[in-house]
Amino acid sequence: MQKLSFPAIPPLPVLDDDHFHDECGVFGICRHVDAAAHTALGLHALQHRGQEAAGIVSYDGRQFHSHRAMGHVGDNFNSSDVIASLPGEMAIGHNRYSTSGDKAIRNVQPLFAEFKFGGLAIAHNGNLTNARTLRKSLVDRGCIFQSTSDTETFIHLIARSDGTNVVERVIDALKQVEGAYSLVAMTQEKLIGVRDPHGVRPLVLGKTGDAYILASETCALDIIGAEYIRDIAPGELIVIDKNGMHSYSPFAPVQSKFCIFEYIYFARPDSNVENHNVYQVRKNIGAELARESHVEADVVVPVPDSGVPAALGYAEQADIPFELGIIRNHYVGRTFIEPSQQIRNLGVRLKHNANGRYLEGKRVVLVDDSIVRGTTSVKIVDMVRAAGAAEVHMRISSPPTAHSCHYGIDTPESDELMASRMDLDEMIKTIGVDSLAFISFDGLYRAVGKERRDNDVPQFCDACFSGEYPLRLTDKVDGPEPAQLSLLRERGQG
Ligand code: SF4
Repeated sequence: MQKLSFPAIPPLPVLDDDHFHDECGVFGICRHVDAAAHTALGLHALQHRGQEAAGIVSYDGRQFHSHRAMGHVGDNFNSSDVIASLPGEMAIGHNRYSTSGDKAIRNVQPLFAEFKFGGLAIAHNGNLTNARTLRKSLVDRGCIFQSTSDTETFIHLIARSDGTNVVERVIDALKQVEGAYSLVAMTQEKLIGVRDPHGVRPLVLGKTGDAYILASETCALDIIGAEYIRDIAPGELIVIDKNGMHSYSPFAPVQSKFCIFEYIYFARPDSNVENHNVYQVRKNIGAELARESHVEADVVVPVPDSGVPAALGYAEQADIPFELGIIRNHYVGRTFIEPSQQIRNLGVRLKHNANGRYLEGKRVVLVDDSIVRGTTSVKIVDMVRAAGAAEVHMRISSPPTAHSCHYGIDTPESDELMASRMDLDEMIKTIGVDSLAFISFDGLYRAVGKERRDNDVPQFCDACFSGEYPLRLTDKVDGPEPAQLSLLRERGQG
């Protein structure tokens, strides 16, 4: 029998569904007998913030213990043996979403290092905008980097600091970095949490019994039954040790620039972020969209799952029935090896299917959270039309995404973004819709409780929509030329 041979086609990232991708979730806990198990649960709740790798480091009073692995939390921290190998009452953990070419175990956090003062494990969510510049100067001064992660920059800065104690050293390091970061760190005695001065990425404080918890989102507190205490303030450094909790404000106060995209897409809808319930904000955006760009229609249909709350808000405001006209398959793996171009062309239907009965002959308002490259939108609209929709009107719960993020979100280059290449009419034609509307800046800001966007000093970071980057982009503007960060390639590295 003749052996079939298929052309070598790289796996298609089925869940790479034309969204920006958050890069990390962090979790830390101290004074709890089941610290590692609780950290695994917390990371499980934060899985949406990073699916490439996960890691936990614990401290048992004598020694640090580490387990880091590529893949999901549930695949790597699902056995009692693994949890038992992470003893102690203090632990920190991290979920990572890495960009391709950077998927190596040496980059999986938490990173650990031995210092003059003892051990320190560290994990961070965000992106340092002067990491390359700092790395170059540290390498020039003899530092030997073991990873290509910007998190390691903190380690070398802490090591070289003249501070007389660990908190002083951490503060010294923080004062040299620029960019967006929410980090958790752990020494033999202290659990430390910090948000950058602008508070771009989230970090919350919780408590269960005597144990304190730091986590990227409140959903990680809910899963372990912990009480939400408060958000860590922008620029605040929290230290928890046997003497209790201490708060430091090492930076001069600056305007807060929380990432508005957390509300639109990144955060889990059941999380409360900076005193706003994310699900409610998304519904508010939908209602604003309905007010701003109403259209006569028979049904409001979300692109699941992320478009659901905004579609509900739209439907309620417009008084149009809400229907799940598209069903999402939740069991599609992260990648799906497709043996032929023909199957590859099936594309989005691996993940979404039309629920034809609710689309046929209908004027459909299709609600999604964003359009990045536009590839998914084209396929979804095609599918809805093939199911017999009479009209398709697309409503997007973010402004046009026309710029890359440099603050910890994995994004395509600007010229790959549909909104940077096309005007509205061209987008309508390319996507194949009867009409297309995006939420306005003021509508978005109203949904988050502001009267309008303050165009002189915007209350949030919205740079991927506006192009106004609130934090200095040192590496991009005057940093060293991008260089190969490491000569080492690990087995299995993407
Ligand atoms: S550029 Fe966009 S995604 Fe990045 S931090 Fe700002 S609002 Fe968030």
